[in-house]
Amino acid sequence: MTAFEFRNGELHAEELPLSQIAARFSTPTYVYSRAALTTAFRNFDAGFNGTDHLVCYSVKANSNLAILNLFARLGAGFDIVSGGELARVIAAGGDPGKIVFSGLGKTAAEMQQALQAGIFCFNVESAPELERLNRVAGEMGKRAPVSLRVNPDVDAKTHPYISTGLKNNKFGVACEDAFVLYQRAAALSHIDVCGIDCHIGSQLTELSPFLDALDRVLALVDQVEAAGITIHHLDIGGGIGIRYADETPPEFTDYAAAIRAKLGNRKFKLVMEPGRALVGNAGLLLTTVEYLKHGETRNFAIVDAAMNDLMRPALYDAFHEICAVKNGGANEQIYEVVGPVCESGDFLGHDRPLAIQPGDLLAIFSAGAYGMSMSSNYNTRPRAAEVMVDGGNAHEIRARETVPQLYSGEKILTD
Ligand SMILES: *Cc1c(COP(=O)(O)O)cnc(C)c1O
Repeated sequence: MTAFEFRNGELHAEELPLSQIAARFSTPTYVYSRAALTTAFRNFDAGFNGTDHLVCYSVKANSNLAILNLFARLGAGFDIVSGGELARVIAAGGDPGKIVFSGLGKTAAEMQQALQAGIFCFNVESAPELERLNRVAGEMGKRAPVSLRVNPDVDAKTHPYISTGLKNNKFGVACEDAFVLYQRAAALSHIDVCGIDCHIGSQLTELSPFLDALDRVLALVDQVEAAGITIHHLDIGGGIGIRYADETPPEFTDYAAAIRAKLGNRKFKLVMEPGRALVGNAGLLLTTVEYLKHGETRNFAIVDAAMNDLMRPALYDAFHEICAVKNGGANEQIYEVVGPVCESGDFLGHDRPLAIQPGDLLAIFSAGAYGMSMSSNYNTRPRAAEVMVDGGNAHEIRARETVPQLYSGEKILTD
């Protein structure tokens, strides 16, 4: 990763010193590199060169319109999980014909919206969802393209909160039940069976769970096709991990090669739904040290970013590398890096060696995925600005929220 590098003792985003970005946009601010986003997409896509495929970027990882637009221009499709994400993709110039709609709680209104837009495929996660989709499509005089999301019951060996492919997870249809549901789908008058789908979890650092899942899915494909139902595409989901600390996730080329080897001569179109792997390491969160507090047992670095800006440490006990934007100055000490929110869970990093003084800038790395998109307004904190760096230029791709915006929809009783 060369998007964020030290030059002359200061961390830069592409050509720009981060101190310039902080001076212009204040902090906390998410900073993304256009070059890193582009490279990640191109590298991922290139692994499947020569195979009919569609990379559907998983919008929930980072749903900023500028990022969606950038991927759309690179030829991406999109994996969405709500009507809101559908609206975003369309507003960003994405092609509805390249959208797959995942998620286990699709409302009738969301189904109508997606049928109207003409999406590529609904990834259906249960029998009642299939029946509802058939009814909604029928009322509109349309046919809904459908994949069943099957749950292959494999252990993704990742954090339990982001593991989705085990029997006891709420996601998808159990493999044993999927065959009967495919037969039902094929018999419904407003459903077109087009594919099969699975997604077993996020931040996977090994290939074997992907391949185990694929074995089970392919066995099901054989069974379904033997019954005369054609599967046109295979959606292998997302989930490739990134390096936050010392993980060694699979290289994109190895991932693609292993999957292509499993498929052998089978002729269907491949769909993938990567999120984190495309954006995670293309962004960082820039924050300012407000106070240093030296306690008897611990030192605290209190910064102006918090769990509402970056929830992953509080939610998953996730690790994000943190470093001072400028080298030198103070003595190195070990700090708890914490935000100002009134929760003891509001930390960004434990036991970090940092040479810092109040007013210094810190960079929190690997914050491009599930950072801004999971942020909230807890403690009535306006959400951070987002900036995309492109060479020597910084573009504000989302303005910092203002406090009046936060309560603009609220009303006081008048009697
Ligand atoms: C979240 C999600 C993804 C993306 O996962 P990453 O780990 O970010 O690649 C893909 N597909 C589905 C159905 C998801 O819920």
